[in-house]
Amino acid sequence: MIFSGLAEKLQETFKKLRGKGRLTEEDVDLALKEVRRALIGADVNFLVVKDFIAKVRERAVGLDVLQSLTPAQQVIKIVHDELAALMGGTRSKIELAPAPPTVVMMVGLQGGGKTTTTAKLANHLRRQGRRPLLVACDIYRPAAIKQLQVLGGQLDMPVFNMGDNVAPPDIARAAVEKARREGNDLVILDTAGRLHIDEELMTELKDIVANVNPNEILLVVDSMTGQDAVNVAKAFNERLSLTGVILTKLDGDTRGGAALSVKAVTGCPIKFVGMGEKLDALEDFHPDRMADRILG
Ligand code: GDP
Repeated sequence: MIFSGLAEKLQETFKKLRGKGRLTEEDVDLALKEVRRALIGADVNFLVVKDFIAKVRERAVGLDVLQSLTPAQQVIKIVHDELAALMGGTRSKIELAPAPPTVVMMVGLQGGGKTTTTAKLANHLRRQGRRPLLVACDIYRPAAIKQLQVLGGQLDMPVFNMGDNVAPPDIARAAVEKARREGNDLVILDTAGRLHIDEELMTELKDIVANVNPNEILLVVDSMTGQDAVNVAKAFNERLSLTGVILTKLDGDTRGGAALSVKAVTGCPIKFVGMGEKLDALEDFHPDRMADRILG
């Protein structure tokens, strides 16, 4: 399970504090040393860890010892709250357009799970009453259009494509017009990915943004790549002003460094997480619940 390593380490540390009646500054520092080690071990960004530890320390040292909680419980609570804050505090939702259709643009590198997540997100939002139109804007990768069509077929959902000879910004514009005509209140654009960030791709993505002015620009990244995922998020955000991040493959991520760092490093909230290959394996991201899970 995700963060199981971290959760165990923190539990271990706080067990040592549990017997104490009162925490000294030394106790707090000893515990925080373990927390720090656990976070670094979970592949959390170094600067994020430093800042996090400073915040927890400030709140924990000189704490009034409450009657109802042991000092260790109080430290655990502070760590919990700060972990949740680190991941964005509250749950972030999809921004709906005041006048439909809402346009969601999916971006990311190849292999991150963008096409699968496009279908998953459509499925997720259809359950909330939306009528999605999926749009194949990746005209470069052979079989990308076909892949989206197959996924759309599995979900019994319309997929718009114009083959691989029309420029993606034009495809996006035509798709939005079609959605408006046919009563689809949600358009999800599956854009092209590359193996690495390249300027040609970024220019194309910016042209799509200029053409359809998306309500959401969501980066899809593989959680298992840890700090690489965070660096990718930073690079995309600098060029495209992302509105959020979707972390995929969290089901296979035992460390969780990306989940813990991405918001602090980029300022972009994690909006959803992928928890498996199936088309219903997408969940809303709740920072609070994730903090619960980390601390076990
Ligand atoms: P794209 O190149 O970014 O469009 O990536 P794809 O959508 O083709 O996905 C690449 C692979 O990752 C596929 O085998 C997906 O089934 C898999 N994948 C996507 N999301 C998840 C997830 O949340 N968990 C797991 N375990 N696999 C995923």
